[in-house]
Amino acid sequence: AEAHIGLIGLGTMGSALALNIAEKGFPIAVWNRTTEVTHRFRAEADELADRILPCDTLAALVAAIAPPRAIILMVPAGQAVDDQIAALAPFLGPDDLVIDAGNANFHDTNRRDAAGLPFRFLGMGVSGGEEGARHGPAIMGGGARADWDRVAPVLTAIAAKAEDGTPCADWMGEAGAGHFVKAVHNGIEYADMQMIAEVYGILRDGLGMPAEDIAGVFRGWNEGVLKSYLIEISGEVAAAVDPVSGGPMLDVILDSAGQKGTGRWTAVEAQHLGTPIPVIEAAVMARNASARRAERAAGEARFGPGPRRVEGMTTETLEQALIAGKILCYAQGFGMIAAASTAFGWSLDMAAIARVWRAGCIIRSAMLNDMAAALAEDPARNLILAPGFAAMLEETVPALRQVVAAGALNGLALPALSAGLAWFDTMRTARGTANMIQAQRDFFGAHGFQRVDGLDRPHGPWGKA
Ligand code: NDP
Repeated sequence: AEAHIGLIGLGTMGSALALNIAEKGFPIAVWNRTTEVTHRFRAEADELADRILPCDTLAALVAAIAPPRAIILMVPAGQAVDDQIAALAPFLGPDDLVIDAGNANFHDTNRRDAAGLPFRFLGMGVSGGEEGARHGPAIMGGGARADWDRVAPVLTAIAAKAEDGTPCADWMGEAGAGHFVKAVHNGIEYADMQMIAEVYGILRDGLGMPAEDIAGVFRGWNEGVLKSYLIEISGEVAAAVDPVSGGPMLDVILDSAGQKGTGRWTAVEAQHLGTPIPVIEAAVMARNASARRAERAAGEARFGPGPRRVEGMTTETLEQALIAGKILCYAQGFGMIAAASTAFGWSLDMAAIARVWRAGCIIRSAMLNDMAAALAEDPARNLILAPGFAAMLEETVPALRQVVAAGALNGLALPALSAGLAWFDTMRTARGTANMIQAQRDFFGAHGFQRVDGLDRPHGPWGKA
């Protein structure tokens, strides 16, 4: 047994993660369902090959790892994970540890955690795509703290480092907590991407800007408050030229977005938890609607072209609107995490989550530094009430109003930005309109209500009384 750790599943993510682990000095044993992939992987590992032990069988893999063993699973979420767990069970002892590093639904991780497996088990969210896995992902661990601590030296070594040097790898909480936090990360990722796409739509259709100018706008924004991986790659994407047509790459890409479902899980879970995340929900809706191309074409044929030119809109206004939308979206995401922490008894550390997201992952951004600081100050407070963010919202919400209004008046669909604004206005209105809802419910269902004066008269003067 020479390997420090093992890994199963040498696909896109698994092979990148294995190379990262080997590079940081940890000998790693690897096994893949298709054996030739294992051998090709080692052959192509160049100077890292002497730290990689290719194994043809699970028995050989287990034998190659120093006990107590740790084995990372990087296979598709769902049945493949259950199958691999079952296949490993005969070879492992109670002190060995299996780490599911795929995008598992956290309910599955909770189930596996509670299933009384014959070995230790961690569920771990990994973000950053292939590039992140190879050179530094963000890692969100879930399970028993002691099991996390055992593998933390490897995981912190391979993780991305924030600007202050802190590794973006941390234990989030028990059982499915790591995969849950990863799911919310992906929900926020959907929302960030959607808001950028909506602003791109205004630049393209509302202002009639060509792609290369849009690239310049995004590049400028990446020097300011919006500095982030997603704004950076949006600039690169807008600047790219299609090798076939010679025109902008963006202009030849079909407007129908794919998804693997993690954003949808987040939206569905938010409904179960009763926690409002309208910006993320709007982003999931927008991806679903994007797939209905023929229906959208029929709509345009019937009602005429949607987007009209927008007058008097500056790129500064759009930048401010995006800043506001982003703060509102993250406030919702952290609100959902707080709700889950209570519902599942996890004691999630909100500031630690913001810190883990600062580097390596897709939603990494300059703003997450300030969010981590604000959440460390008061994790229970709605992020929109943290003094720094409240001040930023006061400054930027007027621009968000202007942009959402321009979208409404000119037929530009802005589902995520408008959802953010509507949520903001809901959350800053002390006397809302649910008194009407309560009256209606009492009228047709005798559900009763509470009175503002505290009197015990829970029904209205309608019906039989
Ligand atoms: P790939 O399709 O590239 O690789 C899948 C790997 O799993 C292959 O090694 C494959 O082996 C193996 N595999 C597939 N089915 C089974 C099975 N039934 N039993 C055993 N092994 C199996 O996937 P990715 O690397 O992209 O994704 C792996 C996991 O990581 C997923 O959960 C994904 O959601 C998650 N993830 C992916 C990210 C990405 O950017 N791609 C980012 C973050 C997480 P074989 O060679 O035999 O086919």
